Amino acid sequence: MDKKEILSKFSADPERYYKVKLFDDERFERKSCATCKRFYWTIDENRVNCPDHSDDTYSFIGNPPTAKRFDYTQAWKEVESFFVKNGHTSVNRYPVVCRWRDDLYFTIASIVDFQRVMGSKVVFEFPANPLIVPQTCLRFKDLENVGVTGRHFSSFCMIGQHSIPNSNGYWKDECVDLDYRLLTEQFGVDKKEVVFVEDVWEGGGSFGSSLEFFVKGLELGNAVFTEFQGDLSNYKTLDQQVIDMGAGLERFAWLTMGTPTAYDCCFGPITNNLLQQAGIDTNDELLVTYFTKIAKHLEQFSDLSEVRKNAIKSAGLSDEQINKIIIPVEGIYLIVDHIRTLIFAISDGALPSNVGGGYNLRMMLRRIISTMDRLSLKFDMNEMVDTQIDYLKNTYPELEKTREDIKTIIGIESGRYENSKLRMEKIVSKLNQKPTVDDLIRLYESDGVTPDYLKEMKVISDIPSTFYSKLSELHQSKKQKEQDQVSLEGLPETELLYYGDDPKEFDAKVLKSFDRYVVLNKTSFYARGGGQEPDHGTIENFEVVDVSKHGNIIVHELKNGIPKEGDIVSCIVNSKRRDGITKNHTSTHILNSSSRNVLGSWVWQHSAFKEEDHARLDITHHSALTDDEITKIEDLANSIVEKNIPVTIENFDRGTAEQKYGFKIYQGGIVPVKSIRIVSIEDFDIEACGGTHVKQTDEIELIKITRTKRIQDGVVRIEFVSGDTALDYVKQYNADLVKKSAELKDKTELKEKRQEQKQELREKFPLLVESIIQSKIGSTIVDEIVVDITEPGKPNFCCTDSDQYDEFFHIGLGEKLIEKDPWMVYCGVFEDRDKIRAIIYSGDQAANDKKAGDIAKIVSEILGGAGGGNQRFAQGGGKDKSKKNNAIEKVKSMVLGV
Ligand SMILES: [Zn+2]
Ligand SMILES: [Zn+2]
Repeated sequence: MDKKEILSKFSADPERYYKVKLFDDERFERKSCATCKRFYWTIDENRVNCPDHSDDTYSFIGNPPTAKRFDYTQAWKEVESFFVKNGHTSVNRYPVVCRWRDDLYFTIASIVDFQRVMGSKVVFEFPANPLIVPQTCLRFKDLENVGVTGRHFSSFCMIGQHSIPNSNGYWKDECVDLDYRLLTEQFGVDKKEVVFVEDVWEGGGSFGSSLEFFVKGLELGNAVFTEFQGDLSNYKTLDQQVIDMGAGLERFAWLTMGTPTAYDCCFGPITNNLLQQAGIDTNDELLVTYFTKIAKHLEQFSDLSEVRKNAIKSAGLSDEQINKIIIPVEGIYLIVDHIRTLIFAISDGALPSNVGGGYNLRMMLRRIISTMDRLSLKFDMNEMVDTQIDYLKNTYPELEKTREDIKTIIGIESGRYENSKLRMEKIVSKLNQKPTVDDLIRLYESDGVTPDYLKEMKVISDIPSTFYSKLSELHQSKKQKEQDQVSLEGLPETELLYYGDDPKEFDAKVLKSFDRYVVLNKTSFYARGGGQEPDHGTIENFEVVDVSKHGNIIVHELKNGIPKEGDIVSCIVNSKRRDGITKNHTSTHILNSSSRNVLGSWVWQHSAFKEEDHARLDITHHSALTDDEITKIEDLANSIVEKNIPVTIENFDRGTAEQKYGFKIYQGGIVPVKSIRIVSIEDFDIEACGGTHVKQTDEIELIKITRTKRIQDGVVRIEFVSGDTALDYVKQYNADLVKKSAELKDKTELKEKRQEQKQELREKFPLLVESIIQSKIGSTIVDEIVVDITEPGKPNFCCTDSDQYDEFFHIGLGEKLIEKDPWMVYCGVFEDRDKIRAIIYSGDQAANDKKAGDIAKIVSEILGGAGGGNQRFAQGGGKDKSKKNNAIEKVKSMVLGV
């Protein structure tokens, strides 16, 4: 539906769609803007233009229209006390990571808190009626505006005023009356200054009129009356009408402070602190003039750089003023804004990464660093986190709990960026033309090169305005669920026995059978779901190979035939398999909480898989796990097993469960039903889960992590076994360990023995040499060394293949012998692992005829290898150990000529 069409239809009948009691009581006049023709309501008889086109637009900068000044924190206190005084419940903010909606990564509006998707329908669930909430919202579409326009934030606080018109809540009249009184009574704005502009809202199949309210051209809020469904020619009133008033808290503070930008009053003392650190001498008058121009003309140019150029020109700024004041101030605003968003996101469990919503967080951190680099600013990240939390905790005390975790994550992520800079430099140096928006996206997607970095490197002068919105779109939508293939129309819900007595043998009636599939009136077969694998077993004599859930109907897939429709069949669930799966499922819950306790608050279940004999849990974590972390996680998990804690299962109304336990219950993703099943292991782990679980933790016996792996940026996989499989695993592991250590022991002993022998040898070496040299003519054996002494003037020969001698011995002995007896030829043969080696020495006299090198060649040939050396020393060898004796005999005959 076209919003313009709705607006013209509604504005044609203002009595019905826009007129509220307040307008009568206070004598508001309905006017049409002289410039744009839009309709608005005012009590100022002199007003001729709508707030966008009036002369007073943004004139509150430097001249606030309220008597009192309220910063961000104080502004919320004012708003809160007003609505509470008027019968509203003040609800704590919901997480910025939108775990309860499958289609959103981050909470983008306060109304999202109370929306739950059921099938294709969005339903509202209010914890109180009426209520207000200071909801932090994250939006990444306008990142290039942040810091520049004075009013765009990557995260902001939406004051949500919500009501369902029933006996507790109210509808249009009271809503507009409250908003008017908030401005005029609580904030003291002159009644004449408040303007309501007619508008409409449309989305998710419903639509309604809305009244935007402005003061001095600043839009403070928009009261949306979600009222109809259908299309413009035929629509009816919704069963569930809702007041959805969203106002920007930052703007309330800005209006009362009248600072040059909204940033100046919303980050408390932080901005000033950084300006001081950077030594920037801000000139208030200059900033007021400049940012008023920016604010007034923002909507009139399509490109942000045009808005800037125009403001610079009409404020008459010099280049020096731009470079020394405007640019650094914009940079500091950006840094402060982005840090605040990271604080909320990380605190609520999101991690910077290259997938999904983590993308935007990584981008923002990199922008912070690039901006600091570009402007040569050296701010301490930890200090910035600390000062922000010190300020924010007045409104959001929960941030205190994750203060250190936030610093850890920012520290790790900054380090990664610094490390990747060298690579980025290389990539950038290869760019030979100005990159297009698509190039920029590709550069960021595949190489992590941010446009801010390119700006810092002067490759581009401005970031194209479409970059962030395109990138955001790319990573916004999650994949669509697979469509059901099976037609099950007209079948009743299957009665789920596994949530009741859970019999492993039962009789049931076949309601439908087709192809390989069977639908029963009731079943104990657990269907694949939540990462838990399906049960197996038999229906009659047919094997059940798969079980799946389609809506509330369970479909069994059989092998080798199917029973007839109408039959009563006897069914048996394979209880051993179910038992293994069940233990693994409860173990998944235990390991998940153990990991969070050991690693940090950012750990969430990313996904899980539970089979009979193995399972895995993927968790969100920034780095691969260390051995020490794995041990700690495993020890903590097993201590929970040993404590024998009861695993309790209770059903809660969804809203009650969320209020009672928070959104941590959605570890396995959202649960699209009104009543949720909460599985708790005391307060160690509490999750919404439809799976099967043990009754007491000690049934698990043991949890053993078998492997961990970083499977993607920000996700670590933990593979594990539990129960009997874990016991078997440990048994096998220990057996392997015993075997390995026995082998090691043997090796060490052998080594030690050799060492001893060597030592002995070294001691008897001189004696040995002496007795060989002193040997008489003929053949003798000294310590397993054969000595052949011939008549003087002819070669003598000495050899051994005793395995008590090694390479060092042969070298030592050979050297010594030829030194003492120049007629001596020595040959030592020994085994070295899978080879047989020979060392040959030939004395000066003997070598005239019998060169060591020649001998080594021949010996090696016999041993099936190769060798060589000089005339004095040579070595060689081969693989044929059986030829050892042949080799020695050959050398002997060569030397002695026999
Ligand atoms: Zn206008
Ligand atoms: Zn579970």
